[in-house]
Amino acid sequence: MLTELTQAKSPKNQYDPAYDPMVDESPGRYRDYCPTYWIATAGDPPQDDGPITADIDADVVVIGSGYTGLSCAIHLAKEYGIKATVLEANSVAWGCSTRNGGQAQISSGRLKRSQWIQRWGVDVARRMHAEVAEAFDLFRSLIYSGEFDCDPQDGGHLYIAHKAKMMPALEAESHLLNKTFGYRTRIVGREELHRDYLRDQEAAGAMHEPDGVGVHAAKLAFGYLAMARRLGAKVHPGSPVMGWQTRGGIHYLKTPGGMVRARSVAIATAAYTSPGMHHLTKHRLMPVLSNSVVTRPLTAQERDACGFKTRLVLTDTRTLRHYYRLLPDGRVQIGSRSAITGADADNPRHLSLLVEGLYRKFPALRGIKLDYSWWGWVDVSHDMMPRIFQPDPGQKIYYAMGYGGNGVMYSAQAGRRLAQLVAGEPPIDLPIFRSPLPSHGPLTPFRRIGQRAMYHWYALKDEKL
Ligand SMILES: Cc1cc2nc3c(=O)[nH]c(=O)nc-3n(C[C@H](O)[C@H](O)[C@H](O)COP(=O)(O)OP(=O)(O)OC[C@H]3O[C@@H](n4cnc5c(N)ncnc54)[C@H](O)[C@@H]3O)c2cc1C
Repeated sequence: MLTELTQAKSPKNQYDPAYDPMVDESPGRYRDYCPTYWIATAGDPPQDDGPITADIDADVVVIGSGYTGLSCAIHLAKEYGIKATVLEANSVAWGCSTRNGGQAQISSGRLKRSQWIQRWGVDVARRMHAEVAEAFDLFRSLIYSGEFDCDPQDGGHLYIAHKAKMMPALEAESHLLNKTFGYRTRIVGREELHRDYLRDQEAAGAMHEPDGVGVHAAKLAFGYLAMARRLGAKVHPGSPVMGWQTRGGIHYLKTPGGMVRARSVAIATAAYTSPGMHHLTKHRLMPVLSNSVVTRPLTAQERDACGFKTRLVLTDTRTLRHYYRLLPDGRVQIGSRSAITGADADNPRHLSLLVEGLYRKFPALRGIKLDYSWWGWVDVSHDMMPRIFQPDPGQKIYYAMGYGGNGVMYSAQAGRRLAQLVAGEPPIDLPIFRSPLPSHGPLTPFRRIGQRAMYHWYALKDEKL
């Protein structure tokens, strides 16, 4: 009852489509959701605990209520009996966790297995593979727990070569996965792909990975929210951390409604981390925009024309990759890179680039009505891999972020690993748990200039070379 009253007294602020984490001081205060297909079709969010309205003490505070923060709260309660207080600046799971493509893949960060080997050697790469395999098991245990339904489309992931030139590298990656990691991928030729899966007109073939699930992004977030609260966590939207001081081992987190005093703080703010929040997270991530559209439901003829026989999650081999799939209600979703700045995000140029990508794959869909279009900020780390880490051994501050657009699945495990660190367990012996998010160093002020140049190069490489 108290929660209902608090919520009624706290009307939400309008969603700001131009929000830009590199420019704006904070992600906002109690902003409404980005108008995504997921928010439109998830139903009402479950009850939360309303904004903070007085000074309170908490043993553990989690900042950010996306998949990572909620998974951390779930596992703190489940594995250690710790009932965390989750502080969310806006509406619950307002960031990437209600805006993504809903593609759960067996990855963490942006690097391929061959790149893990180049960076760390075979032994570490194998152990990292075991970590993401364990993460997938955890993810499945959550989505099939019976506590919520997030419309899973299970059966694997098709990684589609967008031109013939990409096939040798795809075949080599598949071979490596099979032989070095014992992970049974399969190469699917263009003919088989068109016959049994879909007639993506650019596709030269694909690699099938057995693990891959499409989920309803917001139903997943809302499922985590209900689960975290059932286990005793408190989840407070409209409670941005706007100031942070530490005295005598206690963290004083200033929110508009009151001071929250905490012994330990777990940070799960991803690309929405404001530079001023804490010096340990300042400029450690590159926020990168990704956009997404959802068409009206396809007619039976359009589905035939596209040859859609699969509902597997699909991505292509572009560096500026497309992620796409046929949704359970017969619409097509597709997403890719977007603008560089928040101010430019609604420039029609970015939308038309994305839909041209859709038409190239499925010419029969040229001109199809788009029912939803949105964008969000992805947390790309300097070395393309996430970190789950305690950055200063003298302070009980921990973070999990930097998934680089591959966080739907791995955030469940990252939240669990974050909970383990908060509870005092030693970090796992893998590089992503053993070092801080690398800084961009002297390049920090020039990151967007670099990004612009890289986008030109990637577009040339993806489309022309
Ligand atoms: C368009 C798009 C498509 C994507 N598609 C996929 C996909 O198909 N597959 C995949 O694996 N990944 C995808 N991703 C990435 C994936 O969504 C994220 O990795 C994942 O949701 C990260 O969750 P998170 O909890 O770490 O962060 P978020 O969900 O971003 O949550 C961070 C939260 O922190 C809050 N916050 C920030 N600062 C403060 C503060 N000072 N005080 C309180 N709260 C604060 C924010 O309001 C936000 O709600 C996509 C991302 C985007 C944007």
